[in-house]
Amino acid sequence: MDLPIVDLFDDELSEAWLLKYFHQGQLRCPHCRRDVKEARLFRVTRRSRLKVYRCKCGGIYNLYSGTVFQGKHFRPAQAILLLRGVCKGEPTAQIAREIGVARQTVHDMRKVLQAQAQRLQPETPLPDRQTETDEMFQNAGEKRSTPSGS
Ligand SMILES: [Zn+2]
Repeated sequence: MDLPIVDLFDDELSEAWLLKYFHQGQLRCPHCRRDVKEARLFRVTRRSRLKVYRCKCGGIYNLYSGTVFQGKHFRPAQAILLLRGVCKGEPTAQIAREIGVARQTVHDMRKVLQAQAQRLQPETPLPDRQTETDEMFQNAGEKRSTPSGS
């Protein structure tokens, strides 16, 4: 179904969620780390409807500064649905329809997000959950069957 569910999402709630997700709930100037409370509202972007702040240091920033969404024109609700879709492994075309943007845009963002996820992963690949669980049981079993020594 081609229903753009993005319109069902409240942008203010979405903003609050992104603030927590991207900035641990505290927006700061990316240039001097001053609290956003010390900045003044500079303008609101037309397409993404984001508040742009001007810091005392002269720096201008918004919710997306320093994130993979920097310079993009997604509304906060679109950003969340995109993240959700990519995390869930939904097809690009489906995400594009849901948030009402071009497929190419979703495709590009998926690549950026995947590269980011790869970068954040440790060098050694983690075992999948099943392996992890098996090993846990194996270790527990070994402890039981091994004579306690001494
Ligand atoms: Zn600043």
